[in-house]
Amino acid sequence: TLSDRLNKVFTGLRGKGRLSPADIDATAREIRIALLEADVALPVVRQFIAAVKERATGEEVSKALNPAQQVIKIVNEELIQILGGETRRLQFAKTGPTVIMLAGLQGAGKTTLAGKLARFLKDQGHAPVLVAADLQRPNAVNQLQVVGERAGVAVYAPQPGNGVGDPVAVAKDSIEFALRAQHDMVIVDTAGRLGIDADMMRQAADIRDAVQPQEILFVVDAMVGQDAVNTAEAFQSGVGFTGVVLTKLDGDARGGAALSVRSVTGQPIMFASNGEKLEDFDVFHPDRMASRILGMGDMLTLIEQAQRTFDADEAEKMAGKLAAGNQFTLEDFLDQLQAIRRMGPIGNLLGMLPGAGQMKEALAQVDDKDLDRTAAIIRSMTAAEREDPKIINGSRRLRIANGSGVKVSDVNSLVDRFFEARKMMMRMTGGMGLPGGNRRNA
Ligand code: GDP
Ligand code: MG
Repeated sequence: TLSDRLNKVFTGLRGKGRLSPADIDATAREIRIALLEADVALPVVRQFIAAVKERATGEEVSKALNPAQQVIKIVNEELIQILGGETRRLQFAKTGPTVIMLAGLQGAGKTTLAGKLARFLKDQGHAPVLVAADLQRPNAVNQLQVVGERAGVAVYAPQPGNGVGDPVAVAKDSIEFALRAQHDMVIVDTAGRLGIDADMMRQAADIRDAVQPQEILFVVDAMVGQDAVNTAEAFQSGVGFTGVVLTKLDGDARGGAALSVRSVTGQPIMFASNGEKLEDFDVFHPDRMASRILGMGDMLTLIEQAQRTFDADEAEKMAGKLAAGNQFTLEDFLDQLQAIRRMGPIGNLLGMLPGAGQMKEALAQVDDKDLDRTAAIIRSMTAAEREDPKIINGSRRLRIANGSGVKVSDVNSLVDRFFEARKMMMRMTGGMGLPGGNRRNA
């Protein structure tokens, strides 16, 4: 899947200290393959790769993020962009009922969506009515009635002698009905065909002209891949639409349709269906979809938090100390602990790391109390001890232990851990251990 592919790309970057132009090229190539395999339309892939490359090249070396995280961040932001950026809400009529017309191929999921949308609007306090303007298939009206009943909303269906067989007339009459019966929203279900078809387009355009909808939602099955783009273009020119609904996202992990349709038609994806039941439905959020496509779980949240928390000035200072080797003190160690604390409970933090699953048990032992105890021990030290931990001999350890209410062995283990950490940081300076470092003296 796209997620797996992208994950491989990011893993390859993990050990890097800095991205070279060759790294960026190689990464872009991998992302390109991943997108093409996910059935994203070629022009969209090209545009996407160009944007990512440009940003990765121009990006300042980040102090808070390592190169892999930086690329993830850029790819994520570009994905959100291509998916439409902001979440787009329904537009309502200024006077009279708001009309939403559904269009799309047969089997795309229009009738199912009609029920979901009606229920969604009803839950928000609206009084929607469903309109059966699909008179193509014998069972279509009946299907909508079942859907309406399940959603607990009214259905306007052709009555004998009232425009039977004429979907345009039914649609037109439904607006009158809505006004009379005080429905503030009208959802018009229309007939699709199995493929793009001039008759279908003409009928849909006639219905559109008859009801003057505020929104025309193009409903498309996310599983059809590349075909989604062709279909979308045909509906765009044949009927026109103001928004897209992706259906059957439960069966599609590739995300290709989602990425292409928005960008090819210029219209936002507004809703997503991910199952046959009424509740398998949500407003479409570009950021959530991007994160789903990336498959990075909460890694993105972690990146955000790291960036927000990391103070650029502190980083500068820290980098200088590390570059000079043994100048990293217990005082700095304390600063770092506090920075970690500011990022929230450590359990959350560790849980966000991908693949943290098997480490859970080990991590469960590192709790916030542990961090706080460590901070307390350091606070019981004198300034001289914090600056130069080597002077912390036996009697000093006993005094520190008494001062902070811990055992001498706890002080010992902290001091050991500090020297271990310092050794590691010096080794990783310029790598991903501590962001912002460089290799000058390491
Ligand atoms: P229409 O011809 O566009 O009105 O499509 P329908 O609403 O009749 O849906 C066609 C088929 O797709 C039905 O069997 C639905 O139950 C199914 N379906 C619709 N939406 C979804 C969805 O989001 N996920 C899944 N798995 N099936 C769906
Ligand atoms: Mg239908």
